[in-house]
Amino acid sequence: MEFAHRHLLGIEQLSQADITTILDLAETYVDLNRRAAKRSDVLAGLTQINMFFENSTRTQASFELAGLRLGADVMNMSMQASSIKKGETLIDTAMTLNAMHPDLLVVRHPHSGAVDLLAQKVNCAVLNAGDGRHEHPTQALLDALTIRRAKGRLHRLNIAICGDVAHSRVARSNLILLGKMENRIRLIGPPTLVPAQFAKFGAEVYDDMREGLQGVDVVMMLRLQKERMDGGFIPSEREYFYRYGLDAEKLALAAPDAIVMHPGPMNRGVEIDGTLADDINRSVIQEQVEMGVAVRMAAMELLARNLGGTA
Ligand code: ASP
Repeated sequence: MEFAHRHLLGIEQLSQADITTILDLAETYVDLNRRAAKRSDVLAGLTQINMFFENSTRTQASFELAGLRLGADVMNMSMQASSIKKGETLIDTAMTLNAMHPDLLVVRHPHSGAVDLLAQKVNCAVLNAGDGRHEHPTQALLDALTIRRAKGRLHRLNIAICGDVAHSRVARSNLILLGKMENRIRLIGPPTLVPAQFAKFGAEVYDDMREGLQGVDVVMMLRLQKERMDGGFIPSEREYFYRYGLDAEKLALAAPDAIVMHPGPMNRGVEIDGTLADDINRSVIQEQVEMGVAVRMAAMELLARNLGGTA
């Protein structure tokens, strides 16, 4: 398995072959994670530090578990939002940590580009766990694995990404990944949340959800990122749910076997109907969480192989 990267900063830097390599290795970890004894020692002796400058439930827990299951020494640093000072503070923190010789640094930061900047300052492998509205590569990879397992392939699918595309790093990383794997992507949402410039990614843009969902194989819903909004992007949540919330009636316009995805955290009754989110015949939201651990194990293993002296 060839994977010639020092860091995992975004999907942008990955080739089709890199993506397949990560997903194939992740499959072996899906199996391991379903066993009673879930332990491997591929990261034994290595130190993983998780630095989350922004809230996280799934991603942080998943990276922590992934490191523990691979035998790494895992440390979680709790970074309070109030201590974020950008620029110097981030670099200072990075240099301090670097002096402690971590091997893997998992970083989430509210500013786009902050994780790339940090990666330039440290000697270890850096994994981007989400930077601002820029990228969230492991989310796109876990979504890809979920789609590949549910649909039997990861190409030539019609995929709708719906909702707050403008503020979403999940949408951006998915757009890049799914485009690289040669799928047809539709972006659905009000023009305030799906600016026309997103068409440059090769996607079709719809503001009428009923039209956009026609015949799609995958419906990926996004959370309204209120914390990244600095004004009125929607008239009201009620109105938004009526026009852009996924419910059984709108889903009926998609392919009969279309799957429903959401990266979490969900706003039930805003972008997605709660009953539909829990419908195990259509929703793969829990599988996405399961695939997250496996994908992160695979990504960390591949990066660890490229660490000086530990491969
Ligand atoms: N958990 C995802 C992220 O960190 C999606 C979201 O927050 O809406 O980007």
